[in-house]
Amino acid sequence: MSEVRDKGGALYVVATPIGNLDDISARACRILSSVAYIAAEDTRHTGSLLRYLGIDTPMRAYHDHNEVSQSEKIVADLKNGKEVAVVSDAGTPQISDPGYRLVKLALMEGLIVVPIPGASAIISALSASGVAASRFTFEGFLPAKEQQRQKALVKLCHETRTMVFYEAPHRVSVVVNDMQRILGGDRQLSIARELTKIHEQIFFGSITDAIQALSQGAITAKGEFVLIVEGASESAVLVDADIEKVMQTLINELPASRAADVASKLTGESRKSLYEIAVSLKNSRDK
Ligand code: SAM
Repeated sequence: MSEVRDKGGALYVVATPIGNLDDISARACRILSSVAYIAAEDTRHTGSLLRYLGIDTPMRAYHDHNEVSQSEKIVADLKNGKEVAVVSDAGTPQISDPGYRLVKLALMEGLIVVPIPGASAIISALSASGVAASRFTFEGFLPAKEQQRQKALVKLCHETRTMVFYEAPHRVSVVVNDMQRILGGDRQLSIARELTKIHEQIFFGSITDAIQALSQGAITAKGEFVLIVEGASESAVLVDADIEKVMQTLINELPASRAADVASKLTGESRKSLYEIAVSLKNSRDK
């Protein structure tokens, strides 16, 4: 079934389930059945979904490694009037997944791009998080390397919006420990694990509570995770702004570690987080 076209093709950006296959929408099924082909991140993975749905539309691989060449071929097909769907392995394309290049190229060529909404781990996790969700920032995956990850968290210290992170299971504990050191242990944290699947679990508590739950095995470090952290309170941001001013002055006179020692004595804040701030301020100053 064609929904829109009078001339030219259309690119349908189709969300697929993040676990429970019954979360596919009726509209997504209609589109996936009717397009000329489906551009899929992993054709074996999408093949299982299509078999479950009884759909036999042909597929073509479209992933991080062939995005550029495939986007051009798909756009050529769209210009020839074909209708094409793009899907990723799970959830919504473009959200920490391929899709961006193709959508951008299609739009730049004046082609029709139609979103077919459905599951995304961000929204599912937020909806059941217990953390305020009217304003949030999606940070995707934090850097895997310790220093870069901690720097990224230092940059987020003053963020007052709720923050959403995707995370790999083997890093959840270290990330939550970094959060305690850098953001403090009192903020609310929701850990959504294996959403829509058999072992679905939603933890809600403080960052410190989460560390305990992780170390006691109450949250199993297996499967897929979304972490949702409460933003900084406006008053804490004002205090942090003062701390930043103190650090700014100190790093002009002292090495980062000495500046952190002095600032820690002056403010009572943790030396570790002040050291992170000192290094990040020095790096931005020296750029
Ligand atoms: N495009 C997807 C979306 O819309 O959510 C995200 C793809 S990204 C490559 C995969 C990451 O999303 C996982 O590592 C995990 O952080 C998160 N994720 C995906 N499915 C999930 C689920 N069922 N439960 C919890 N997190 C999930």
